[in-house]
Amino acid sequence: MSTDFYQLIDRLADTRHLSLREWETLVDSFNADIASYAANKALTLRKAVYGNDVYIRGLVEISNICKNDCLYCGIRHSNRNCDRYRLSSDQILDCCKVGYSLGFRTFVLQGGEDPYYTDDVLCGIVSSIKSAYVDCAVTLSLGERSYNSYKRLFDAGADRYLLRHETANEEHYKQLHPENMSYRSRMECLKTLRKIGFQVGCGMMVGSPYQTSKDLAKDLKFIQEFSPDMCGIGPFIPHSDTPFKDFPAGSAEITCYLLSLIRILKPNILLPATTALGTVDAFGREKGLLAGANVLMPNLSPTSVRKKYSLYNNKICTGEEAAECLRCLSERIKKAGFHIVQSRGDIITATKGV
Ligand code: SF4
Repeated sequence: MSTDFYQLIDRLADTRHLSLREWETLVDSFNADIASYAANKALTLRKAVYGNDVYIRGLVEISNICKNDCLYCGIRHSNRNCDRYRLSSDQILDCCKVGYSLGFRTFVLQGGEDPYYTDDVLCGIVSSIKSAYVDCAVTLSLGERSYNSYKRLFDAGADRYLLRHETANEEHYKQLHPENMSYRSRMECLKTLRKIGFQVGCGMMVGSPYQTSKDLAKDLKFIQEFSPDMCGIGPFIPHSDTPFKDFPAGSAEITCYLLSLIRILKPNILLPATTALGTVDAFGREKGLLAGANVLMPNLSPTSVRKKYSLYNNKICTGEEAAECLRCLSERIKKAGFHIVQSRGDIITATKGV
C-alpha cells in the first residue's frame, strides 16, 4: 500500500489544509488501516484539547411538524403516516428542568420548520430557559429563518445554532431536496448565523443517496473553509415513508473515518457521536468517540413523543426516561475510557501545542 495517504493525513495535521483533489484522495483511500491511523491521530489531538471529557447536550425535540419536504426525512411534510406533535413552552421548560437536575448545562431545541414557533414564541422560550438556568447554553436547530429572526433569537440569549448544510455540492443538494429549497439559501443562512455571533454548526449525512466521494470531498473542503464550531455528521438511514426508503444506509466505519479527518482538520471542533451512528452500529457512539468525537446528545424529550420524532427508522433510545438514558450512556462511555463532564461545554479556543 502506498504511504502517500499517510503522508496526506500527516500534512493535514501539520497545515490544516488540503486541496479538493487531496480530500478526494483521502476519501477514496478509506480502508481499515488508514482509518485506524487517522483515528489514532484524531484521538491524540482530541485528548490534547479536551482530555477524556465528553460534553453532553440535552436534546429536546420540540416539534415534528415541518413545512419542508426533504426527500430523506421521516417527518417531511407529505408523510401522512407521521403522527404529529408539538411541545408547549411549559413542556419544553419541564424537559430543561429534568435535564438540569441530571447535570445537563446545554439544551438543544430541535424541530422541523414549524410555523407555530414564531420569533415571539421562540424568544419567550429561549429567554425563560436562560433566566431560569443562567449557567446553561441554549442551542437551536430549527432550520432556515430570516436574518431578523436569527438576530432576535441571538439577542434573546441563544448561544449556538446547528444547521446541517447536508451537502456542499449544489447539484447533489437538488437531488436530496424539493425544488422550493435552495442550496444557496442554506449556505447564506450559515453565513448569517456566523455574522450575528452564534457558535455555528454545519454537517452532512454520510452515504446519502447519490453521494459520491467527490461530494464528501467538497463537504470536507467546505468544513475547512467555513471552520464551524460544531459539525454534526451521521450515516444516512432510510425511512420507510420517504422516497429514499429503498436506498442503503451509510456506513458507520466511513462515518468514523470522516470524524477523525474533521478532528485532525480542526482539533478543537465540537464533534458529536450521533444517535444515527449509534443506530447503524450498536457501539457506534463509542466508536465515534474513539475516532475523535467529543460530544453526545442524549434525549430529554418526553418519552410519549420520542418515537414520533422519527427522522429515520429504528432510532435508538426512544423508550427510556432521560435519567435512565444518561446512566446507561455514562457507563458505556466509561468503559471506552471517557467521562461525562457537567459543563456548558463551549469550544476551547486556545490550546498550546495543537
Ligand atoms: S430535514 Fe428538517 S427541514 Fe427537512 S423535512 Fe426534515 S425536519 Fe423538515
